Amino acid sequence: MNGSQSAAGKRRRVGVLGLQGDFQEHLEVLREIDVEPVDVRRPEHLEGVDALIIPGGESTTISKLSDLYGLTEPIRERARHGMPLWGTCAGAIFLATRVPGRPQTILSLMDMTVERNAFGRQVDSFEADLKVPKLGPAPFHAVFIRAPKITEVGKGVNVLSRLDDGTIVAAQQGTLLATSFHPELTPDRRFHRYLVDLIDRS
Ligand code: GLN
Repeated sequence: MNGSQSAAGKRRRVGVLGLQGDFQEHLEVLREIDVEPVDVRRPEHLEGVDALIIPGGESTTISKLSDLYGLTEPIRERARHGMPLWGTCAGAIFLATRVPGRPQTILSLMDMTVERNAFGRQVDSFEADLKVPKLGPAPFHAVFIRAPKITEVGKGVNVLSRLDDGTIVAAQQGTLLATSFHPELTPDRRFHRYLVDLIDRS
């Protein structure tokens, strides 16, 4: 069996919330790893997807558009019923339960506090080689763009990676995944494959 297919040999379908941000890059990565990409812009597009990625971009805009198109509640429902969901950067903010100072809707699914733009202006963007033991021994080269920090996680959340100073930058709670950085912008496909592997656990 190949990870991009179900036990019955069906090709996996993974959605990317295509409202704002760099969803196109994720769709291309999915094609590359032999998963059927689905650009999710309406609630009906969620039907039949095995997992969903919420891309990086501007979290306030993504959450407003998600409300406007009636997607917020259907995404919550699917995730609560076990659909794997991965938020990258702005997507991680949208996924969180606690975002200090934030008036907009959040999905409130993952038990963590996420602080927006927490690395400060002087390091708006930077790159780092991360240790991510779950993905194997090779470091994961990560690109951070006006990235959030995961400042606190609940008991049911596993930390997948930290920066050298201890800042949490990747975490998992069951079938929910959050990364502060952008794996779709570098050639390493291990995080996208990791999401596809979660489909079998859901
Ligand atoms: N700073 C953005 C926000 O707060 C996130 C940036 C990103 O997704 N690259 O929504």
